[in-house]
Amino acid sequence: MGTITSRQLPFSAVIMLTSVVAVCSAYFFWALWMRTDFGLTFWATWSDVSWQVAEVDSRGRIIRLGSHPMAIAVLAGIVSVCFVAFLIGAWQFFTGNEIRRKKENDAISSRIEKVGQELDDEVLMLLGLLKKHIDFSSLHSEALAKVNKTLPSLTTAGQIRAVVQRLINENSRIRSEVGVLNARLQQSQSQIEKLRLSLSESQNLGMLDAVTHLKNRHWLEANLPREVKAASELNESLCLIMADVDHFKKINDTFGHTVGDEILRRFGELLSKNIKGRDTAVRYGGEEFVVVLPQTQIEGADNLGEQIRSELQRKKWMHHKTGKQIGMVTASFGIAQLKSGDSPESFIERADAKLYEAKAAGRNCVKSDSD
Ligand code: GH3
Ligand code: MG
Ligand code: MG
Repeated sequence: MGTITSRQLPFSAVIMLTSVVAVCSAYFFWALWMRTDFGLTFWATWSDVSWQVAEVDSRGRIIRLGSHPMAIAVLAGIVSVCFVAFLIGAWQFFTGNEIRRKKENDAISSRIEKVGQELDDEVLMLLGLLKKHIDFSSLHSEALAKVNKTLPSLTTAGQIRAVVQRLINENSRIRSEVGVLNARLQQSQSQIEKLRLSLSESQNLGMLDAVTHLKNRHWLEANLPREVKAASELNESLCLIMADVDHFKKINDTFGHTVGDEILRRFGELLSKNIKGRDTAVRYGGEEFVVVLPQTQIEGADNLGEQIRSELQRKKWMHHKTGKQIGMVTASFGIAQLKSGDSPESFIERADAKLYEAKAAGRNCVKSDSD
């Protein structure tokens, strides 16, 4: 039996819970207050504001106690604040996932941008260094040419020694300049290597789905054209499985988004477990998944789709913490094989059309090009 583990309560749920508890407690105290003047009198008169009104007889005995308008106003205030807090909490709870995901994507994009900028700076610095070196080399050539010109006019040993000394000085200057340039080039090379690694890590992160840790739609958009091109050129078979969890909205509505997310994660694991080699499972979006199957004939893709469908159907799901039965979760599958003339988009559309057929046929089934 598949079990769903509750993760930590999100902050928004805590706000919702706290506001409900606050309203209940406020009402509880208020109701208690209305019924008795015992004990609470002390609380009621702790400040100048009297929190209760009393009807007294001619002897000053209390006939009837009631809440002071101030107390009612405070209660109404608490209820209003809690109501607003609850609404904000609920809004955050339902939109939080999207916002969190958007923040993660933004963080990855800005990281990629930053690394790209650092790479640009490093390359510019390298170009500057090379230009400086070229300038330096031409200065050196000029110096040598000058020496060459003066050579025929040298007559004494002292003059020759002076020229040789100049050449030695020039040579050692060159050696030290080249040494500095070499060290700087080595430094730059290792810096560029680090930046390149960081860039590819960021790009990989940007191509992963945060919930299921499968590849995401960006990955598919970047890689499917390559697979389609390779399959067409090598005349190999390429298949796509498109899967969609059935009535997933109902699962979310009944058991909550956290359970929904956990089911998506488990479905992702089920896909990963059933594929091998160059096959790739992708979370296409929401509760839709795509499996890319290079070098696979349609019969093999059909078998795989059916295997995943039946394995999912066999699982009975239960909430780990509450023990609540979630029951059976099913998915529908559409399978297409690459045809000549297919673009990546038309290929996906054909798999999607088959998925639509599977939904129309009552869900929890596989529809394929081979049907
Ligand atoms: P069908 O059988 O026709 O596919 O019905 P369905 O309810 O699965 O499809 P529908 O498109 O009506 O609803 C999909 C729901 O999936 C709505 C959306 O709130 C939910 N959803 C999308 N992404 C996520 C996610 O990342 N986590 C959770 N928990 N729910 C998601
Ligand atoms: Mg669905
Ligand atoms: Mg859907």
